[in-house]
Amino acid sequence: MITQCLKKVRGETLEIPVRMHRDLPDHDAIKTVTIKKEPTGAWFVSFCIETVKPDKPDIETIDSKDTIGIDLGIINLIRDSDGRSVGRLDLSDDRERLEREQRALSRKQNGSNNWEKQRRVVAEIHETMSDKKRDLKHKLAHFYTTRYDAVFLEDLNVKSMLEGPQNARNKAEVGWRGLLEIFQHHGEKHGCHVVEVDSHGTSKECAACGVETPKPVWVREHSCPACGYTAGRDENASFVIQKRGLSELGVGHSEGTPAETGTATLTTFTNSGGTVSARPVVETGSPTLKEPAKAGE
Ligand SMILES: [Zn+2]
Repeated sequence: MITQCLKKVRGETLEIPVRMHRDLPDHDAIKTVTIKKEPTGAWFVSFCIETVKPDKPDIETIDSKDTIGIDLGIINLIRDSDGRSVGRLDLSDDRERLEREQRALSRKQNGSNNWEKQRRVVAEIHETMSDKKRDLKHKLAHFYTTRYDAVFLEDLNVKSMLEGPQNARNKAEVGWRGLLEIFQHHGEKHGCHVVEVDSHGTSKECAACGVETPKPVWVREHSCPACGYTAGRDENASFVIQKRGLSELGVGHSEGTPAETGTATLTTFTNSGGTVSARPVVETGSPTLKEPAKAGE
């Protein structure tokens, strides 16, 4: 158990007491220790350790049922090919508080003691908000990489470019940047393939027949003029992502198209009551509550 850290500041050695968020897992060696001071004045110590990584399953042994396609959406944060939805992260209270405290800051005299105090209040809210986002990303990554042999996500930079500025708020809110790295980090840790797929036209392509039908962002239904397949926009996209992931990874699938498998799952899902909030999906992965923010932001 580590209880303190030493840091040299201007020639003096500081003894910093350490409160561990969790025990260090079994490891071969501590590689690096990083000590960082947050704008709020709080110190953070992170340990980079070497561990034995589990092997990822052989491609030949992977069943398409043990893989998942994840669509990162506008209305729902996440829609996956097994019928789960994760609602948006509600940061409205924090945002309101932030605006209020920022206004208060602008009324203080720049550089004064009161200004400095208020600056810390603002910095703390920023920190709380980014902690919540990071936490959610780690929980999601943990959830999916511990349940599946392979997880397929879209190439996010291209996706946000394609969907344009009307989607900016949603993107900014969650900050999808760093998500893939976090998934990859958990994938390594839990022995799960994490594959980024081409996001071009994932919402246009029909998951059942592959024909592309352009539809603007506000059209929430996929209805294929070529084969008649209908599904929710994000639902269809999640199947397309899974299909692309499977072929990228080289997994053959014997029974049915992902779309067929997915439709079956969707029925069960709809019966169980529509969209779920981030909580139930995520809570199963709660051991990651204290996941270190090693990968990503
Ligand atoms: Zn079709």
